[in-house]
Amino acid sequence: MNPTLYIIGGGPGDPELITLKAVKALKKADVILYDALVSEQLLVYARPGCKLIFVGKRKGKKELTQDEINELTVFYASRVSCVARLKGGDPFVFGRGHEELEYASRRGVTVEVIPGISSALAGPASASIPFTKRGINESFWVVTGTLSSGEISNDIALAAESSATVIVLMGISNLKKILSLFIKARSPFEPAAIIEHATLPTQRVISGTVYSMHEQIQEDQIKTPAIIVIGKVVDTTPWPPSGGTVSREPISLVSAFDNDL
Ligand code: SAH
Repeated sequence: MNPTLYIIGGGPGDPELITLKAVKALKKADVILYDALVSEQLLVYARPGCKLIFVGKRKGKKELTQDEINELTVFYASRVSCVARLKGGDPFVFGRGHEELEYASRRGVTVEVIPGISSALAGPASASIPFTKRGINESFWVVTGTLSSGEISNDIALAAESSATVIVLMGISNLKKILSLFIKARSPFEPAAIIEHATLPTQRVISGTVYSMHEQIQEDQIKTPAIIVIGKVVDTTPWPPSGGTVSREPISLVSAFDNDL
């Protein structure tokens, strides 16, 4: 039986970082429901007549609730032969993709999940920061910086106690609190980087130590979406990624696509 609903990871932002499987599904779809973090350039794969529905957050407009998105998806899945639910990064990394899978499957819709490249993976890599490096660390954690309550996750404190590389998504509004935890649990000199707009032409990497960032960066100076990477691996990167001469201390700002570098 052909799946009716594809839950698709659209990749981290660069429209070339989507899988062939996802492109094939988008080409087949009668309806595409897409989120804010999805590159609109991916919609070129929609066939003529395909209905395109934006279901993400947009400034000044009322956003749909998760329940409304679930209902809308199933509404279309029961009326047309192929619906694509296109989500940013990977649908199962802080993406609520599994909730959508459960909701649709319970209502008899056949669902196929097409993985995507998560910003958690693409972000550090696009700034030439490794997750693991022999002799330096043995694991990496991907943690949310903000719980649905707005509070900081307790897992960040646990992660700070480890020697792992820690990648924080949705962490900018709690940036100072997060950096403080690492200053205490590791050291003020622990290397850190923030990657704004990873994989996009507007990508910018800010690097320093947890302490220098804590002292010099205000949360509202960061352009979102952005991820925070903390760990010794940040220091192993030839800097800046493009091979220029920007100093890393106390803070360096590197725009990956800045021709002046
Ligand atoms: N499912 C998505 C994550 C959704 S949570 C994925 O796998 O990528 C949203 C968070 O992801 C943002 O707050 C930000 O921390 C991160 N993010 C998504 N796209 C990003 C990008 N292009 N650059 C930096 N961070 C990004």
